[in-house]
Order: sequence, then C-alpha cells, then structure tokens
Amino acid sequence: MTERLLVKKDIKSLDFDELKEFIESTGEKAFRAKQVYGWMHQKLVQSFDDMSNIPKSLRGRLSEECFIESTRITGKQVSKDGTAKFLMELHDGNKVESVLMKYRHGNSVCISTQAGCRMGCRFCASTVGGLIRNLTPSEMLGQVYEIQRTTGERVSNVILMGIGEPLDNYSNVVKFIKMLSDSNGVNISQRNITLSTCGLVEKLKELADEGLAITVAVSLHAPDDVLRRQIMPVAERYSIQNIMEACRYYIEKTGRRITFEYSMMEGINDSSRHAEKLARLLKGLNCHVNLIPLNPVNGRLGKRPGIAGIQQFKLILEKNHINVTIRREMGSDIDAACGQLRNKDKGGKLHESICEK
Ligand code: SAH
Repeated sequence: MTERLLVKKDIKSLDFDELKEFIESTGEKAFRAKQVYGWMHQKLVQSFDDMSNIPKSLRGRLSEECFIESTRITGKQVSKDGTAKFLMELHDGNKVESVLMKYRHGNSVCISTQAGCRMGCRFCASTVGGLIRNLTPSEMLGQVYEIQRTTGERVSNVILMGIGEPLDNYSNVVKFIKMLSDSNGVNISQRNITLSTCGLVEKLKELADEGLAITVAVSLHAPDDVLRRQIMPVAERYSIQNIMEACRYYIEKTGRRITFEYSMMEGINDSSRHAEKLARLLKGLNCHVNLIPLNPVNGRLGKRPGIAGIQQFKLILEKNHINVTIRREMGSDIDAACGQLRNKDKGGKLHESICEK
C-alpha cells in the first residue's frame, strides 16, 4: 500500500488546472478533466470505477497512475445539542477529529489541518504529543466530503479550528481553501470559511496577499506579551505588536475584519484590568472579539470563569465600542468543543477522549 502511494499521484489533491494539465498530458480532451473533477469534488465518489461517463480506457489509466485519497470515518459521537464528532482515519493509520455543528443558518464543519500540533498552547488538548505530520489538501477535503456524504447534510460553512495550526501547513491549507471554493467542486463560498491561527506573523501577511475572501480569527488570549508568553509558547516568537501590525496589513489588503479569539481562564486573563487593556489594544481596529469560555482539559492549564465574570468582561469591551460576542458552546459533552480535539495515533482507541473524562 505505502509503496503504491509513493509512486502514484494523489489525484484529489490536484486543483482543477493541475488536473486538466494532467488529463491533457494523457492525450485526452480537457472536458474530461471537468468530469473527473466533478466526480471527485461534487459527487464525492471514492473509486474510478464509479465514474460512469468516463471511458474505461481513461479510468484504467487513472487508476494505474493515481489513487483517490480516502479519509474514512471510523467513529462518531453525537452530543445532546446535535453536534457530531467524527474520528477520521487517514491512509497511514493516523487519526484526526472533525466536528459537524448544525445551526439555523446552515451546517458548519470544523476540520483538522495537521495530525497533532507543535504550537504547545498550555490550555489545549490538540498539542499534547506534538506534531506528527501535515495533512494534504485531499485529507482536509476528505473530512468535509465524508461528513457531507455520510450524513446527507449539505455543508455551508467550514472552519479551520480543529487539530493543528493551519498556517504551519501553509501551502496545503491555501490550496485546500481554493479547491473547497472552486465552482467545479463543492463550491463553498470563501466568505463562509474561517481560518483560526495562533498568529504566525509572516504567514499571516502572506495570506493577506493571496486575495482570499475568508475570515481570519487570531487566537490572542492575552492583552500583553508577558501573560501571553505564559500561556502560549508561540508568543516567544511574535510579540502582540508584531501580530497587530500583521492584522492591520491583513485588514488593509483584504478589506475584511479580523476576529480575535480570547479563551477565558479564571484568575489568569479574565479580570476587568485585562478587559480594559484589551480594549485599549484593539481600539479603532476593524475587528470583532469572540470570548470563548475555557473548556477545561484534563492535565492542561486553566479553569472556566463563571458566566457573570465573562459578562462583565464583555461589558467593558462594549463600553469601549469593541464588537464582542461570547462563543456558543457546542458539543462539550463529547469533547468536541474548542481545544478538546486530540490526535489519535495509529494505536489510538476510539472514544479515548471520553474515557479520560
Ligand atoms: N491552531 C489554531 C486553531 C486552534 S482551535 C489557533 O491557534 O487558532 C480554535 C480556538 O480554540 C483557538 O483560539 C484556541 O486557542 C482555542 N482553544 C484551544 N484550547 C481551548 C480550550 N481548552 N478551551 C477554549 N478554547 C480553546
């Protein structure tokens, strides 16, 4: 299997132009590319045999030279609020998690961008065990497609907030976003795609230059560097000032507002003083603050503050004319909420996270 994968092309990671070029190089007409792309990215088939309007000869050639990446759902848990968490097995046995959330305005899928994560945020479960590897575009697409295919639910929003740091897997993630929003494929509007990052400054600037209409969310979690360094090792590399500068560049280049995520941890970053400092930092910026009540993770930093404290924090931001919302909690009873997704390695057991609770 592995040997085959090494020599064969991952055809589902080819964007439309690359597929067209490849199909034309086999002597076939370009319209075949549109058909093959449609089979994989609209009809979501997983085998060349299912591509019924493709001549047998071309199907044979494709299966000799390429493989269709298949991300398999090997576990599913459903929360009492309807949120479903899926365990996805990749071809090499690594496992990641993805989440389907149903809202009145449509269905959102939260996908993982890496197996593991090397950012080390002290309150997050996904980083325990470090980074195993980057996911390919087809593996990220596979998470959306498999959820859509097996539940029959149309996915309208995709958020890159599962396991991994999206900007640490930059080129695959950007390609994934372009393919996801391609009208030859599932055609999910870029406006309905949100990428969350802990703030890798150079990559954030590079992203601003891509001309994508996505929403970017930056995990800030602290209003000053001293505190941020205590909870997020990445803050040793980038100061809040560096991040703000990159955000201003992003807003200027794209005309889009930035979201700042602020996970609230009792006695750590949740005082009125922190709120006032945050308000001063964000004053005049075209932004939105999303307060996330901490989802405590066994063995990781932090406790969730009471709702009154969170409301008070919100009020201070509002008084300072900062747009702010409290993130609605989804799926915490199945460990599907922010920061609760974990990498399952090759031997990883299903529902492991639930057993640990
Ligand atoms: N690597 C990306 C995506 C992380 S998950 C990033 O850092 O932005 C999405 C959000 O959940 C991030 O803001 C992350 O910091 C936050 N988060 C992580 N663990 C959490 C937890 N236990 N409780 C609440 N939010 C958490």
